[in-house]
Amino acid sequence: MQYIFASNGSLYEPRKGHTPMTDLKTNLATLAPHLAQIGTTGILNHIAGCAVPAVAGDWFETTSPVDDSHIARVARSGAADVDAAAQAAKAAFPAWRDMPAAKRKSILHAIADGIEARAEEIALCECWDTGQALRFMSKAALRGAANFRFFADRAPSARDGQSLPSPTLMNITTRVPLGPVGIITPWNTPFMLSTWKIAPALAAGCTVVHKPAEFSPWTARILLEIAEEAGLPPGVWNLVNGLGEEAGKALTEHPAIRAIAFVGESATGSAIMAQAAPTLKRVHFELGGKNPVIVFDDANLDAALDAAIFMIYSLNGERCTSSSRLLVQDSIADAFEADLTARAKAIKVGHPLDPATEIGPLIHEVHRAKVEASFDTARSEGATIAAGGTRIGTVGQFVAPTLFTHATNDMKIAQDEIFGPVLTSIRFTTEDEALRIANDTPYGLTGYVWTSDVTRAMRFTDGLEAGMIWVNSANVRHLPTPFGGMKASGIGRDGGDWSFEFYMDQKHIGIATGDPNIPRLGA
Ligand code: NAD
Repeated sequence: MQYIFASNGSLYEPRKGHTPMTDLKTNLATLAPHLAQIGTTGILNHIAGCAVPAVAGDWFETTSPVDDSHIARVARSGAADVDAAAQAAKAAFPAWRDMPAAKRKSILHAIADGIEARAEEIALCECWDTGQALRFMSKAALRGAANFRFFADRAPSARDGQSLPSPTLMNITTRVPLGPVGIITPWNTPFMLSTWKIAPALAAGCTVVHKPAEFSPWTARILLEIAEEAGLPPGVWNLVNGLGEEAGKALTEHPAIRAIAFVGESATGSAIMAQAAPTLKRVHFELGGKNPVIVFDDANLDAALDAAIFMIYSLNGERCTSSSRLLVQDSIADAFEADLTARAKAIKVGHPLDPATEIGPLIHEVHRAKVEASFDTARSEGATIAAGGTRIGTVGQFVAPTLFTHATNDMKIAQDEIFGPVLTSIRFTTEDEALRIANDTPYGLTGYVWTSDVTRAMRFTDGLEAGMIWVNSANVRHLPTPFGGMKASGIGRDGGDWSFEFYMDQKHIGIATGDPNIPRLGA
């Protein structure tokens, strides 16, 4: 049994299902009926409570990166579908906004119950659709439930404000939900990321049009089914599948949509900002990263090694917060890189539904080709490929866990987000040099600092340009803390009250407490 802790420390015990880590054969057998069903129905849109194909009758195919087999056809939506979804979200907004918050809270908890009850199915389908290993996805599904519980518990206080009295006025503030919002999500851990964006929007009182990534549409469909079975009124949450340049673009341009919460590549964020400008939308961007893990020679090197490995190779390295640049002090670099090389070579790459697997296939052949291209770049730039650097097999989208050593920070392999199980190691001598290298990137999402010197940790984190920093720790998400990046890694923060700040408008009301004392013009 796996347990989830709420951010306030209380225990969220899964009430019904959990994901047993059995064996590959059993997991494949459990997946089979779900695969057969989605193959028959296809992945439809969901608008105003109804499962519907795209208005134009168009489809695209989704395949599994495990063996390149067909999973299902998916509704390929255009502007007409987005318009129908946006109108449904607009129509559903007043009733959802005005529903007593306690009732909204209970519906969101019921969604969390439904996620837990179907956690095994979600994890298996997500693994098949994305190639992520079950050992990580079973937890990600349950974290989706925890995200709903966290924001459910905060729904009743979302509108709370302040009292700021002045000599002549009782000034009060309150927050009101923006209205219908668009949520556009990427293909890495798509289920968990969707819950993270959608749960606070619903808790705030907004209605939603969700456009999931075209490479991983399956579990967004399951999530919506769960939500409506849990009692979410039709139209409050609508699902539109499709390509970014078609359905995604139309969503960012729709006049009824008040804001866009987007998770994806930095270049896509730029495009969305331009697309959303004519309708003056509020935007929240969680974008790419090239995050440094900085290891000083006074650190607990065993823990630093485990963390550096975990934060780049877990989740196939398809993780925005991955530590894709290792900055290692040259006094310990030979030994540290040797240990890293041995461990990277020993990582178990395999079938994502095998509980022993540590790395599965990459999401899609397009992405695998991009990651593979970085191996050639490393060679041409003069770095050493200490581990990996190859594709594995010709069926499925597998690559070997890869380590580049003898790299410098000006190389493309140190500057570009590769978004795969690929680590670039760079050596430094002094703390100043480490900080300069760490900050010398367009991105600023996360940083990981390993040192036993607390004064240095304070000094270094103060100078590090990153929205989230962990000292002597891997990335451990605590939901009340702000999640987001600096520079090209994003605009805005998720988590805690920061999510409500995005999905809600502040309102000030000043009430005269005596004679209003208005200057009398023309009297
Ligand atoms: P992507 O930008 O290609 O696509 C993300 C989503 O945007 C998809 O749903 C896509 O269909 C849509 N899209 C594409 N073009 C669009 C357009 N013109 N208008 C509207 N929508 C459009 O990203 P991806 O490849 O799916 O995901 C990987 C990227 O996401 C990486 O860069 C990663 O770092 C980033 N990411 C960031 C965070 C974070 O919190 N900072 C979290 C996860 C992933």
